Amino acid sequence: MKRFETETCIKFVPLKTRVYNTYIEIGSTKKGCYAMIGYHPQKNGQGLPVNFQLPECTAHQGTIEHELLHVIGILHEQARSDRDEHVTIVWENIEKGKIHHSYKESKN
Ligand SMILES: [Zn+2]
Repeated sequence: MKRFETETCIKFVPLKTRVYNTYIEIGSTKKGCYAMIGYHPQKNGQGLPVNFQLPECTAHQGTIEHELLHVIGILHEQARSDRDEHVTIVWENIEKGKIHHSYKESKN
């Protein structure tokens, strides 16, 4: 979070000082490293979930940054609507069961 705040205009603030109703809720009780991409209305005033299974998901700073980027709305590069201007997808090189990671989103 400090790196993003230092290098971008993004600011993370503690929940107790929030001014918006939407917030991220970071946990480690579930399996896997994941975050929803961007804003999704949450039930019962819950935060947007970000999970870091311990210790696997916190072993590398890049994994943490990856999930934080998702929760603020950043897609995988290969899924961006403009990806064909920047990368070539070699479909036959993608493992079975993971091809959905390379489907293009309709908007960025
Ligand atoms: Zn991801």
